[in-house]
Amino acid sequence: MGDRWLLRGAEVITCEPGQEDLPRGDVLVEDGLIVALAPELRVDDCRVVDLRGKLVMPGLIDTHRHTWQTPLRALGADWTVMDYLAAVRVKLAPAFRPEDLHAANLAGALEALDAGITTLVDYSHCMQSPEHADAALAALEEARIRALFAYGYAAGPGDSPALPTHASRLQEARRLRRTRLASDDGLVRLGVALTEMQVPWEQSRAELHSARELGVPITAHCSAWPVSGPSEVQRMADEGLLGPDLLFVHCTWSSDEDLARIAGSGGSLAVTPESELQMGMGFPITGRALRRGVRTTLGCDVVSSNGGDLFTAMRLALQVERGRTNERVGLPRELELKAARVLQMVTLEAAQALGLGHVTGSLRPGKQADLVVLSADALNLTPLNRARDAVVLQAHAGNVESVMVRGRWVKLQGALVDVDVASVRRRVVAARDAVLARVGGAAALLAERGELDRHWDTGSGGVTKDA
Ligand SMILES: [Zn+2]
Repeated sequence: MGDRWLLRGAEVITCEPGQEDLPRGDVLVEDGLIVALAPELRVDDCRVVDLRGKLVMPGLIDTHRHTWQTPLRALGADWTVMDYLAAVRVKLAPAFRPEDLHAANLAGALEALDAGITTLVDYSHCMQSPEHADAALAALEEARIRALFAYGYAAGPGDSPALPTHASRLQEARRLRRTRLASDDGLVRLGVALTEMQVPWEQSRAELHSARELGVPITAHCSAWPVSGPSEVQRMADEGLLGPDLLFVHCTWSSDEDLARIAGSGGSLAVTPESELQMGMGFPITGRALRRGVRTTLGCDVVSSNGGDLFTAMRLALQVERGRTNERVGLPRELELKAARVLQMVTLEAAQALGLGHVTGSLRPGKQADLVVLSADALNLTPLNRARDAVVLQAHAGNVESVMVRGRWVKLQGALVDVDVASVRRRVVAARDAVLARVGGAAALLAERGELDRHWDTGSGGVTKDA
């Protein structure tokens, strides 16, 4: 690295408890780290960026995204969760080849960076061979995003000659830990994504034990629909398998007891408001989870159906929660969930959920410089009153002017740095064409939805499968 940057004169949102926001401040970045933050710094021998009229804040953190689905953008705009599972998980996933996955992850990670997301949890459950994993991982590294590459243990619907057994899939994650992702100091770290718990519990237990042997964070879709019998959280609690390394996703049907169990174990939750609202997973449980003390974060989930930026996710999470509360209490005396709290959910609290609270998620000296410059001088942010609240309720991805990851500009003054965008675009379009051609075209995606029941048991507790 060796770069030294002085970011001069912006309004600074820190998201760090005890570190006040600055109406006008300077940020000094050196060798990838924030080394000073003050109303005015006198520094020589550095490159200066004049940010008067702009807003500087921590990079956003998306804690749940299936980046591999980028070529499927908006195909599922009108899909329920059952349509999604039938089309994407049963039909489309097996049609991805390693080169498609590379194009998808590269375009998806760059899309995230472009929208101010500096850290991504890539829930990568399209792992049909070692080459698929290598391609997906290489693309994240190429994009220079900070990421948890959550290796998906889930098997596809058909035979996978390269990974024929559950044991071989566990072994794959071990291979990555032994080789390319042996270190936790790189921008991309290894995590694992559990198979959905419609598989026998013994398999889930084996995945948990294997992940713990690797010493990597674990993420898992959880309680997105009601199930009969003990929940996944309860099963884990019964066997002492909960822990702060677990990031549960959705939990829209989790009981208060399960939320208390997650909170008590130090685990975290990723709410994905847009996909949950669309697909019939129930209402996002943001408020209930926060009241139970669960560390709660936000994710975009699937651009195969919905948007890929966290400004939208923040706004939806906040206003849906307010709407639900208001419906219950009538005219409220006060809005319980505050906008500024939601900003913490996509910054510092998300970093803590990934075990990265000491690395990223807020702006303070000593942390790595993952930050975003917003055009506070744009009409939709002018005049800038209550900066944190304006970011949550009024900013959009188009306001992201510049993005820095670990002290390096990945987007500067509106353009991704050292990225051939035309080539990225060509490759992801080619991936879309190739994948759709292999399944007989977009019109054929839902033709065999009945096949779904052979692969997923969504239980009998209240899911209307033909909805
Ligand atoms: Zn998901």
